[in-house]
Formats: sequence, C-alpha cells, structure tokens
Amino acid sequence: MDPLSKLEEIFRHFPGIGPRQAKRFAYFLLTKSDADLAEFSKSILELKKSVSMCSLCQRFFPIGNKVVNVAAPICSICSDPNRDTDTLMIVGRDIDLQAVERSRAYNGLYFVLGGSVPIFDEAPDQKIRQKELMARLEQMTSQEEGHRLKEVILATSVNPEGEHTASYIAGLLKPLVSTHGFRVSTLGRGLSTGTELEYSDSETLKSALQNRR
Ligand SMILES: [Zn+2]
Repeated sequence: MDPLSKLEEIFRHFPGIGPRQAKRFAYFLLTKSDADLAEFSKSILELKKSVSMCSLCQRFFPIGNKVVNVAAPICSICSDPNRDTDTLMIVGRDIDLQAVERSRAYNGLYFVLGGSVPIFDEAPDQKIRQKELMARLEQMTSQEEGHRLKEVILATSVNPEGEHTASYIAGLLKPLVSTHGFRVSTLGRGLSTGTELEYSDSETLKSALQNRR
C-alpha cells in the first residue's frame, strides 16, 4: 500500500471519521512542509512515552517531569489528598472525565471504563475494564473506617448503549452493595437524551450531578 492510501486507512479508523474525511486529512498533510510533518510524526512517536495510564482510575495522564511508579502509576486526581475518597464516578471515556472536571462540580474519584457495552453483546466483560473496576471497588470498600466507599455514580452517556452499560454495571455492583451498603446513583436527566457527556456544558453537568438519583 502506498503511504497516502495507508494514511487514509489509518485516519478511517479514528473515532467519528468516515472515508471522505480520512481522505481529506491525508491530502491536507500533503500541503504541509517537511518541518511540520516531522513535528507531527515526532508528537505521535512521543505520545505514549509522555503519557501513562493511572493504575487506579485507568485514565491517561501526562507524566510531565513527575517521577511515576512504572509498575503502578497514579494520576494527579487519584493522588490528590483533597478529593473525596468515598465517592466514585464511573465514566465511559477519558473525554467524559475531562468534561466533568471542567464543570468543577465534582470532587470525588473516577473510574474510566474505556468503552461501553453494546446491547445484546455476548462478551460485555471484554468491552469495558471490568476486571480493573472490580479490583478498584474491592480496594475502595476494604479501606479502613472513615474512608469507606459511600457512593458510586454511574455517569455513562445518555443514549441506549450508555444506559445499557449503566444497568450492566449496576448488576455487577449488586452483590457489593448488599455487603457494603454504598449508594448507587445515576446523573439526573438535566442531560438531554442522546447527549454524550463530553459535549455537555458545565452548567448542565452541574445540575445533572446535583439532581442525581
Ligand atoms: Zn487516577
């Protein structure tokens, strides 16, 4: 495959990008100078080196100049002593977490599922970070008195797949709820149907959080 078609093919697999847009991206790169392209490829090559995945919330975070424990990196949110460690919000993707952070309406911890569970899916545990979620919940419910998990907020997108994901997780949580007695809530429907968290403005997110059930 020639480089142009190969790039088109790569862009075609980006989220939300169709074949025509992929072609436009590839041709756009042709109009760029060699220096720009070198800069672009350098950023791609360095992307993974400069970013790590948090072993607690599973989000990607920039390492910067910080020294991270390579075996179990912990992000700035999970290591922040001022966050409420008794509340865990479960979101689909990193971009959803960023939308909630931008709203400044939430001060608890997060867990990023890394996807959603399609309706009628036969292997839901393969579509999300289920194993990691259960391990994190285990950890948060076994902490000493006073820091124990009090609430899990299911903050998946307001569309059929998001709601299906939330009910699938609620099912996973059931045995833990009966043992540990924490609350499971969902965001209030200030968010209109079909809304992805990432596109919600801060005010809407704030009221959805305040009106959680
Ligand atoms: Zn984290």
